[in-house]
Amino acid sequence: MLDKRKFYINGAWVSPAKTNDCNVINPATEEVCAVISLGDKADTDAAVLGASAAFDSWSETPHAERLELLKNLYSEYKKRSADMALAISMEMGAPIDLASTAQFGSGLGHIKGFIKAFENYEAESAPWPDSPNERLIREPIGVCGMITPWNWPMNQVTLKVVPALAVGCTVVLKPSEIAPLSSYIFAEIVDAAGFPKGVFNLVNGDGPGVGSQLSSHPDVDMISFTGSTRAGRLITIAAAETVKRVTLELGGKGANIIFADADEKAVKRGVMQCFGNTGQSCNSPTRMLVERSYYDEAVEIAAATADAMQVGDPSQNGRHMGPVVSKAQYDKIQGLIEIGMAEGRLVAGGLGRPENMNRGYFVRPTVIADVTNDMTIAREEVFGPVLTMIPFDTEAEAIKIANDTVYGLTNYIQTQDPAKAGRVARKLRSGMVRVNGLDAKQAAPFGGYKQSGNGREGGIWGLEDFTELKHSTGLSD
Ligand code: NAD
Repeated sequence: MLDKRKFYINGAWVSPAKTNDCNVINPATEEVCAVISLGDKADTDAAVLGASAAFDSWSETPHAERLELLKNLYSEYKKRSADMALAISMEMGAPIDLASTAQFGSGLGHIKGFIKAFENYEAESAPWPDSPNERLIREPIGVCGMITPWNWPMNQVTLKVVPALAVGCTVVLKPSEIAPLSSYIFAEIVDAAGFPKGVFNLVNGDGPGVGSQLSSHPDVDMISFTGSTRAGRLITIAAAETVKRVTLELGGKGANIIFADADEKAVKRGVMQCFGNTGQSCNSPTRMLVERSYYDEAVEIAAATADAMQVGDPSQNGRHMGPVVSKAQYDKIQGLIEIGMAEGRLVAGGLGRPENMNRGYFVRPTVIADVTNDMTIAREEVFGPVLTMIPFDTEAEAIKIANDTVYGLTNYIQTQDPAKAGRVARKLRSGMVRVNGLDAKQAAPFGGYKQSGNGREGGIWGLEDFTELKHSTGLSD
């Protein structure tokens, strides 16, 4: 069992102020694989103090020096690919091939993307030629608390830490207590990259503890959060007293609108996307809306795709699906499958573990057809491998159903008519739209409308999220 009880504060690995051990469970075996500490207020305060003390000099470090350190971070991260993939697989159950590629790779891609964005980043501009002494100056906001979830651990950590450090902020990271091992390695990577002490700090803890202490801390200037809408709300309330900036990347209930003229792989692709990462992605296309003339055929394809999906041991190579992250998630998903079975028509999967599994939080890839958008299974984020299928008759009705949700993160369109794709994309109330399976360019903005959150991560938008904008008159140099 790994002992990861220390925190990284002010450039050193330190023991927690009080002993408060927390086991990390491998979801494939249900066994303890590591022990961490849950921090206390004294640990949070020490990390915030370190970050505050480091801020002045870090924020004044020249652009070129910060860029150099980001490049070191990139090469140190690359060196740790095998450890990182193993840690992610063990802590949250991603099959090792997925952990080595998409999970590890998303972090690598974001570090690279931010290096590129930061290379061209100008903190100052004089945008009005008729008033050249007026300047816009982007300054680092200050000490940033970062609270991250377990589903794409390095994706989320790098989307926050890297841009914040780039623009001159200092950081206290609190990763998910369910999947903290990859962040522990990330702290070792930051250390090896040579960042000055106090610029980056890591404190493990839970939401009510370190999470809420950071959110309400008077010396934290910003909280950047990814996780559930429930926790996002609590963080916003805790942060209100100090009026700090809060950016939120929350849940989703994405629609995948499949018109009858979609390409022949669209349904299968949609099912695979929905089940990707065992359905534990906020941008998952979980509501498949299908034009009625194609609906019966689409249901058959979706059921066959789910039936063919292999579920298996994450330590084995292959493109199979791993377990969900925890007993709590497993129970929540089982409850929602049961509700979905009563509300709609089960065409694949169902309750319990897949037949070949007798331990671990493995869920059967499930498809529920004949769903209407007012049903619980169409409204609640399942965060597991469960697809709902809803028929529609007209383009207007598809748009209405897609937008009829409290969320607004990612919607998907499948049609071979470019004019229709354009019309629909512009009417969808979400931060992102994906057409015909085309994925986003690296460093594209990621974030949602409505209760999916606010702020945008990635690229130049991700850098600017961690800045204040100053306007000054009368500057001549
Ligand atoms: P969660 O909200 O329970 O936990 C996320 C993080 O918040 C953890 O670090 C946790 O310790 C912390 N936390 C919990 N309660 C808190 C509180 N009161 N104050 C401060 N911190 C608190 O979510 P989860 O179960 O880890 O992750 C799954 C959820 O995250 C899903 O709902 C998913 O949609 C969402 N998510 C969204 C995005 C996005 O970018 N929009 C990305 C990934 C996950």
